[in-house]
Amino acid sequence: MRELVEQLTSLGRLDNVSLKALLSQCAKDDHVLQLLRDSAVRTAREQFGLGIYIRGLIELSSYCRCDCLYCGLRRSNRSAERYRLTHDEVMECCKEGYRLGFRTFVLQGGEDGTHTDRWLTELVATMRREYPDVAITLSLGERGEESYRALYEAGANRYLLRHEAANEELYESLHPAGRGLRHRLDCLESLKRIGYQTGMGMMIGVKGQTIDHIVEDLQLIERMRPEMVGIGPFLPHRATPLGGEPAGDLRLVLAAVAIVRLMLPKALIPSTTALATLSPTGRLEGILSGANVVMPNLSPSDIRAKYAIYENKASWGKEAAEGLSALEAELQTIGYHIDYARGDFNF
Ligand code: SF4
Repeated sequence: MRELVEQLTSLGRLDNVSLKALLSQCAKDDHVLQLLRDSAVRTAREQFGLGIYIRGLIELSSYCRCDCLYCGLRRSNRSAERYRLTHDEVMECCKEGYRLGFRTFVLQGGEDGTHTDRWLTELVATMRREYPDVAITLSLGERGEESYRALYEAGANRYLLRHEAANEELYESLHPAGRGLRHRLDCLESLKRIGYQTGMGMMIGVKGQTIDHIVEDLQLIERMRPEMVGIGPFLPHRATPLGGEPAGDLRLVLAAVAIVRLMLPKALIPSTTALATLSPTGRLEGILSGANVVMPNLSPSDIRAKYAIYENKASWGKEAAEGLSALEAELQTIGYHIDYARGDFNF
């Protein structure tokens, strides 16, 4: 397995069979997983040193027209608490975030039909005007190319749209009422064409996913070369059809993060909130697998619990914008620190 890790490190790629062998071994062999993670950490440090970028996450709306099987915000979940932030509430979040030192704001939300291009472009343009030095990241799901373009021209810089599953059958099983994998990939291609720094990614451990599926995901990521990659564990939400399923395997998440770091050394890779929710040490373990970004929650405190894609989401303490000193102290325990720069992809 050492040769495979060395090959991945030097070439940035592995064939299907080798990737499958490496992932399978990582799931059961501490030594191999550690070899892989050590190599990924060395690569991340060469690119980013010991600084971890922070992004202020603003959860715009818990309304969603989609029905993804794994998500607590799915439209069929009648027990979900719904809210949407107003323009002024978002600007208040930005004001507080800027004061705390954030230089990237991430607007994330369900696919809320009331978020017209006009409303969103006005919001993005106001953010751009009032905070000209920040990066604006959007994570608002599938929209048309014209919509993506209007938002880009209004001042957005980055767009996160997880592909969720590169395998068509798995994708369809998780998104039975969706527009299909081809449409998702078309959206990602539009975003890249327009000029966004584009993010993709997937959950590990969702029902029906096999190691072969993860290999397909990793190979799609390697082919599409996104600037950002978000990988986290599946976490069940009891009010969804997958509520009784077990959470994803921490080891496989860490292995996938490390592999992506070695495939795309310059990529911006968050140590996800889902990872911090799965394990008390998850955030640090993600960083010690090659991640270089964390996304503290900057949403108004009274709505954080309502944005529940999965249950028991970490959105307080070190996962909260107001907990930056606790985050800094935690990072220092492994020799890292917060990097307050806006942290664009270095093309
Ligand atoms: S995963 Fe996203 S698109 Fe799917 S139901 Fe949840 S919020 Fe909506």
